[in-house]
Amino acid sequence: MVRSARVFFFAICLCLLCSVPLFAGTGPVLVQGALEMEVSTLVKSLADPEEIVIDGWTFWRGRVADRDVVVSRTGTGSINAAAATLLAIREFLPACIINQGTAGGYAPDLDLWDIVLGERVVNAASVVVEYRDRGEGLDVTEWSISEEFHRTVFQSDGALLGVALSKGQDYDKGRVVKGTLFSCDRWSKEQDYLDHWHRTEGAMAEEMESAASAGIAAHYNVPFLAVRVISSNQTAGVAWDMQKAGEIAVAGQLFVLEIIKALP
Ligand code: SAH
Repeated sequence: MVRSARVFFFAICLCLLCSVPLFAGTGPVLVQGALEMEVSTLVKSLADPEEIVIDGWTFWRGRVADRDVVVSRTGTGSINAAAATLLAIREFLPACIINQGTAGGYAPDLDLWDIVLGERVVNAASVVVEYRDRGEGLDVTEWSISEEFHRTVFQSDGALLGVALSKGQDYDKGRVVKGTLFSCDRWSKEQDYLDHWHRTEGAMAEEMESAASAGIAAHYNVPFLAVRVISSNQTAGVAWDMQKAGEIAVAGQLFVLEIIKALP
């Protein structure tokens, strides 16, 4: 009897192990940025930093207010972001992932320095298009986001979002709002394209990494948060400027540091 109970117990454990996430780490907070200007402030803020390079991707492990933190420079775009996220999850078993950096506004009322928390993060490359004959051109208003081929839409973790929203009340450089981030390897300047996705999907801003990172985080069931600070807004006629974007990227990182300090 005791033996069969034991066998039953182990069978249940095995089933649970097979059906639940691969692992949910209890390790550091993983903070990602694509470009040097999007991680340098974070790296400077680390106590006892240690640089770790894995297969060409650079990570810095240290502490922020006695919390273990790993900063990751992912490189630009979805392929880099996916690879760096996977490596970091395997190497550091992070408790959560914050993907942050700059973004271009789709919503006309978003100003430079405003921050969008990606409550919803959409892989903007995952579209279905209607048939059109040769010579008929393209019409973006016929395009829709599709999960026909694979998972396309991701969510930031509710608890992380709550912490970020509450710290948003202290952010004095602009507004902090939650909404939809449109993410793929694209820098969009066609007004019809921006308007279409703003209208049909509620897209607030565009960048290149958060969906790839969110997708890998979701696979491993690691809580995820996307934080993007607006560095241009095509819809509002505000062009991208390298120096300005650098200053704005610093503000985004300082805000993320406040989130990290406020994590339970
Ligand atoms: N043009 C810059 C590099 C920007 S590359 C240069 O020459 O140095 C794009 C990076 O900026 C990506 O990491 C992306 O996430 C972010 N980004 C900021 N605004 C964006 C926008 N409007 N569209 C797409 N990506 C944007």
